[in-house]
Amino acid sequence: MDYISTRGSAPALDFEGATLAGLASDGGLYLPREWPRFTADEIAAMAGLPYAELAARVMQPFVGDSLTPQRLLELTTQAYGRFAHNAVTPLKQLDEQHWLLELFHGPTLAFKDVALQLLGLLFEEFLGRGGDPLTIVGATSGDTGSAAIDAVAGRARVDIFMLHPKGRVSDVQRRQMTTVLAPNVHNIAVSGTFDDAQAMVKRMFGDAGMTSRFAIGAVNSINWARLMAQVVYYFAAALQLGAPQRKVAFAVPTGNFGDVFAGYVAAQMGLPIERLIVATNVNDILHRALTTGDYSAGTVTPTAAPSMDIQVSSNFERLLFDLGGRDGAALAAQMAGFEATRAMQLTNAQRANLREGGAAALFSSARADANDMAASIRWAFDASGELLDPHTAIGLHAARAAGIGRETPVITLATAHPAKFRDAVERATGQRPVLPARIGDLFEREERLVELPGDYAALAAYIAKHAVPRG
Ligand SMILES: *Cc1c(COP(=O)(O)O)cnc(C)c1O
Repeated sequence: MDYISTRGSAPALDFEGATLAGLASDGGLYLPREWPRFTADEIAAMAGLPYAELAARVMQPFVGDSLTPQRLLELTTQAYGRFAHNAVTPLKQLDEQHWLLELFHGPTLAFKDVALQLLGLLFEEFLGRGGDPLTIVGATSGDTGSAAIDAVAGRARVDIFMLHPKGRVSDVQRRQMTTVLAPNVHNIAVSGTFDDAQAMVKRMFGDAGMTSRFAIGAVNSINWARLMAQVVYYFAAALQLGAPQRKVAFAVPTGNFGDVFAGYVAAQMGLPIERLIVATNVNDILHRALTTGDYSAGTVTPTAAPSMDIQVSSNFERLLFDLGGRDGAALAAQMAGFEATRAMQLTNAQRANLREGGAAALFSSARADANDMAASIRWAFDASGELLDPHTAIGLHAARAAGIGRETPVITLATAHPAKFRDAVERATGQRPVLPARIGDLFEREERLVELPGDYAALAAYIAKHAVPRG
C-alpha cells in the first residue's frame, strides 16, 4: 500500500515512510492511495477475535510490506497488553438503545492511548532499521500530549517536544505530561491557544531550515498510523452488536476530526455503519461545515471539554480530499485560501457527497453547550450509574438528539476517563470520580517543563538546541 498527500505534490511513501513523516512535505496529510475493502464474510469471520488479533487483521492491508503479519501481531499484542481491561475497549450498555465504548483503559486515561501505544512501538521498530534519529514535535490540547509522552518516553533514537497551551489543560492532564522525567521528553508550555500552538508545529514541518537539520515527526492525528489504529475499535464494537448483519451508529466527541474520520475509514472498508454523529461543543466549526458548508474559524471558547476546544480540525482536510474526487491540486488551492482567510466554503462536489446518496451521507452533527453537557452527565448517571467525562457527555448528548430508529444501536465513544476531568464531573453530579490506582500518586510526583512565548522563532531555537540532528 502506498500513501499520497492530500495536496498532491509530495512524493508517495510506503507505510513506514508515512508513519515517520507525519505531515507531507507539501503541507498535506497522507492517505492510502485506495481504501482496502473487506467482504461481509471476511468481516463476519472477525467476530470473537481477541482485540490484538482483530487489530492486526484490520490493519494489515494498510501496513503492506512494512511489517510481516507475525511482527504486526507481536506489536499489537504488546501495545494492547498494557491496557487495564482484557477487552481493551469494552462496551457498556446505558439503556435499550445506547451504549458506551470505553476507550480510556490505557495508561493515560484517554482514547489517544489506543493509537499512541502502537505508534510508539512502530517508531521504535522503524527507527531500529537505521536512518536518522526522530524529533517528534507536537501540540496538545491535553490528551495527545500525555499519551504520546507515555508511548515514547525512554525509547531509543527519538526525542519528543510537546507544546501545550499554558493554563488551558487540566491539572491531571498537565501532570501526566510534566511528571515524566525521561531525558528524551521535553514539555513546553506556550502562551496562547491550542490552535496557536498547532499552527507553530505545522509551520515547523514546512520550515526547510529545521527539516534539513532534523527528521521531524508527528504524533498528532495528522499521522496516518494513529487513524489506522482507531479504525479497529469501530470494527470491535460493531461486531459485538451484530455486524455485519446489523448496522450500528456511532456518536463521536470531535475536535481534530481524527477519531470520527477513522469511523469513515471503517465504513469505506465495508463495515456497515448507519450514521457517524459528529458531536462538538460550542467550538462548532465542524457542525457548521456539515450543516451549511461554511467552514470558517471563529475564536476558541475555553470549555470543560478542552480536547474539543478547536476551531481548525486538521483531519477534515482528509475528508474534503476524498469527497472532492481526490484532486490534490484543487484541494491545495482550497486550503491555501483557507489558511489566508481562515474561512472557506465547501465545493459543490464536496457538499453533494455529504448529502443523501453521496459518498459521505453517513455524517450528521450536533453541538452541545455547557448545560447540555451537564444534563447528559446527569442522565447517564441516573439511567445507569455511569459517570461520564465532559467529552463523552457531549457525544452522548448528540447520540440522543440524532433521532436514530430504535432498531439501530447507538454507540457513544467514551473518549476519556471521568477522573481526568474530576472538577467538571463533580460540578454536574456532586460525585467526585476517583483516579484509578495506576496513576494514583500523580499529585506527589515532581514536574519538569519550560515556558516559552507564543513565538515561532523562540520555539525553533529551543528545539534546535535540544534535538539530535540527522546523520
Ligand atoms: C482528542 C480528544 C477528542 C477529540 O478527538 P479528535 O480525534 O481530535 O476529533 C475528544 N475527546 C477526548 C477526551 C480527547 O482526548
